[in-house]
Amino acid sequence: MKTDVLIVGGGPAGAASALFLKRQGIDSLIVEAEDFPRYHIGESMTGAAGQLLRDLGLEGEMTRLRFPVKCGVKVFGKSSAGNWFVPVRGRGADGNMFDAETWQVRRSEFDKMLLDKALDGGATLIHGKATRPVIRDGVVKGAHVSMRGGGQLTIESEMLLDCSGQSTWLANLGGVTGPKYVGAYDKQIAVFSHVRGAIRDSGTARDERKDNTLIFYKEKYHWAWFIPIDDETVSVGVVAPSSLLPKGESLHSYLTRELPELHPELKRRLPVLDLVEEVRAIPNYSYQVRDFCGKGFICIGDAHRFVDPIFSFGLSAALREAEFAASVVRDWLGGKNRDEANPFAAYQLFCEKGTDVLEDLLDTFWEHPFAFSVCVHNKYRDLLTDTFAGRVYEHEHQPNVAIRDFRRLLGREEERELSYLNGSAYSIPIGSRYHPERAPLWEATPGESQAA
Ligand SMILES: Cc1cc2nc3c(=O)[nH]c(=O)nc-3n(C[C@H](O)[C@H](O)[C@H](O)COP(=O)(O)OP(=O)(O)OC[C@H]3O[C@@H](n4cnc5c(N)ncnc54)[C@H](O)[C@@H]3O)c2cc1C
Repeated sequence: MKTDVLIVGGGPAGAASALFLKRQGIDSLIVEAEDFPRYHIGESMTGAAGQLLRDLGLEGEMTRLRFPVKCGVKVFGKSSAGNWFVPVRGRGADGNMFDAETWQVRRSEFDKMLLDKALDGGATLIHGKATRPVIRDGVVKGAHVSMRGGGQLTIESEMLLDCSGQSTWLANLGGVTGPKYVGAYDKQIAVFSHVRGAIRDSGTARDERKDNTLIFYKEKYHWAWFIPIDDETVSVGVVAPSSLLPKGESLHSYLTRELPELHPELKRRLPVLDLVEEVRAIPNYSYQVRDFCGKGFICIGDAHRFVDPIFSFGLSAALREAEFAASVVRDWLGGKNRDEANPFAAYQLFCEKGTDVLEDLLDTFWEHPFAFSVCVHNKYRDLLTDTFAGRVYEHEHQPNVAIRDFRRLLGREEERELSYLNGSAYSIPIGSRYHPERAPLWEATPGESQAA
């Protein structure tokens, strides 16, 4: 079987890639291992993610599916003096800001809707699991697929997009991408479920709207989320250093014990703990893959990098990288940059710089919480509202002066500049302060397949 573009993974990165490629007149074939609808974590969107969905013409679908409207994120600190709110705001072409909205989503429904739209637009879906890439003369030329109903299929492609999420399909196989490194929040675990019967806010001010994201801060690296995903259901999760999860305690017991203990404002909102979804956990979610683009392939979204879930940037990065990839894929298919060592080096650097902005915001939140809240409240209110909204790329005037101040505070301004200047495109500090040896999770060894 042959296709111009093969997309591995039909989640948001994969489905959005197909939709944006279609706008360039390019058809694609998506290989997805799971049956949709399927559960997935990642339910709160940034303003930029919401805007991208509007740009795709999906506002009507989002409304039809009755996804809750989010006006901002409210953070509850250790005391009420530490509470703050960041509204969702857009920025017009004239540079002025305006109140905007985005959505919270039940991922099973949202991901299915997006994939269905991609299929309506002409993409083809293959139910199966990509096992190995096809590589010829150092160029990725497709993938071998283990079909859901049994049997093997080889799909030849001019371009492969790895949108496989946290399973980081290509990086795990070794030899195609660079190595995968642990990220700063690798020693964390998230434990989560859905509840009914939670008390929602009910005010009319933007920071009191019933469907906003709420974050509860207990200690450094120890927090909880509260994300309404429909009129009755709220997604709740606790994130903590993995060492705090008692050995032998079940996830269910841990979550139901932690939720009422973590913060009085959270306890007040959960008078009963009626869990209506399996309790799941994701440990070690923070990583970065070097050289995630190359001849015939690009990794998009979680397939190459995830930092920290606290401010809901995952979907935003996945969707926006999918958008940016469409034109460079079109150029490649048109024969451009074929002789370059990395035909997608500029795209790669562009995406890395965007996520570096997020990483610097997140690291400053954890490392310098007081300075961070002063900047959010007063010093750089609008500039940080931009960043929280997911406007983190160069053409969105990033890194702005707030992010550059954060870099100075973190002592990494020079390192960032150097890494960009020498074109390495790698985030610093890769492997993070928790891993001073900066050892990759595994080194890419051509032809060798390694487990995660
Ligand atoms: C604890 C936690 C909380 C989070 N909260 C938020 C949040 O509130 N907001 C937010 O925006 N983000 C959040 N995220 C991040 C968010 O979940 C991801 O960034 C987002 O899902 C990335 O989308 P994706 O399409 O790259 O990957 P995914 O959504 O994971 O999709 C990948 C798809 O690829 C398929 N696949 C994998 N391997 C193969 C293969 N070999 N062959 C075929 N198919 C394959 C999978 O079945 C899957 O459907 C959170 C993350 C964590 C860990």
